[in-house]
Amino acid sequence: MIKLNRLKDITLQTIIEACNTDIKKEPLKHNLTQDNDNLGLHANIYKHNTFPMKLHLIKGIKRSDTDLVTNNLTKGDLNKLYTYYFSQKPSGKQIRYRILSNAKKCPFCSLSHNPKTLDHFLPKTLFPQFSILPENLVPACKECNEEFKKTFYADVEDEQILHPYFDDIKFYNTQWIKAKYIPSHKDEPCIVEFYVSPPNNWSDTDKKRVQKHFDLFQIKERYSYFAMDAVGVIEEQLKRCKNEPIETILNPIIEKHHNRNDWERVLCLEIKEVLST
Ligand SMILES: [Zn+2]
Repeated sequence: MIKLNRLKDITLQTIIEACNTDIKKEPLKHNLTQDNDNLGLHANIYKHNTFPMKLHLIKGIKRSDTDLVTNNLTKGDLNKLYTYYFSQKPSGKQIRYRILSNAKKCPFCSLSHNPKTLDHFLPKTLFPQFSILPENLVPACKECNEEFKKTFYADVEDEQILHPYFDDIKFYNTQWIKAKYIPSHKDEPCIVEFYVSPPNNWSDTDKKRVQKHFDLFQIKERYSYFAMDAVGVIEEQLKRCKNEPIETILNPIIEKHHNRNDWERVLCLEIKEVLST
C-alpha cells in the first residue's frame, strides 16, 4: 500500500483539451466543449467527498450507452473519450503515460513494479461522469485491477478500500499488517501467514477498511507466495551465520523498506521477534 502524490499539472481540463485536440468528428467535439463545466461540477463532487474519504456517498447508477450522463454526453461518449481518445490517441496517451509513470510500484498491493494499467477507482461502468477525471485514475498492476478490484466500489464507509491519492497518511506510515512465523523444524517446513493488525486506537471504520483492502486484493495469499521463497533463503543465511547476532542479517532488510507494510519488512520483524524470544 503506497501513497501517491497526484500530478498537480494534470487536471480534468488538461485531459479534456488533450482529447479535444484529437477529436475530428462532430458532434462529440462540440458536446465535450459544451459540457466542460458540467464535467467540472462532477469533478468537484468527487473531490468534495475525498477529504475525509466519503466516496461511498456518491451512488453508482446503471445506464445504457445511449443514456445522457451530462447535458450532452452519453455514457457511450464518455467511455469512448477514455478508451479511445485518452488511451490511444497521441495527446491523451502522453498524459496517460505520465500518470502511470508516477507510480514506481502498484499502490494497491505494493508488489508489482511499474504498473501498466489505470484503474477507475469509481468504476466507469457505474460512474461514467468520472471516466476521464484524473483524481479517479489510479495506476495499478494488472492483477489488482483486472483480477481483484474489477468493478468493485464501496457503498458503505466500512468497505472503502484505500485511495492512494486521498487517504490519510496514517494508513501508509503505520504498520497494520503483521506476520505469523513458525520456524522450520526437522522435516517440517516453516509457516508464514500475514494478517491485519491495526493499532488499537484506530476507529472501527478504519480497522474494517484496511481489512477490506487486505481481503479484496488477496494480500494474505499474495504476500505469502513471495515470503515462502524468501524465508528459506533467510533461514539458510541465519544458519550459516549462527555465531552472529540475527540483527546483522535482518536489520539491513528491515531498514531498506520505507513502506511499513512491505511483506519483507513485516516478515523480518516477525522472524526477529520469534528468534529473540
Ligand atoms: Zn497491485
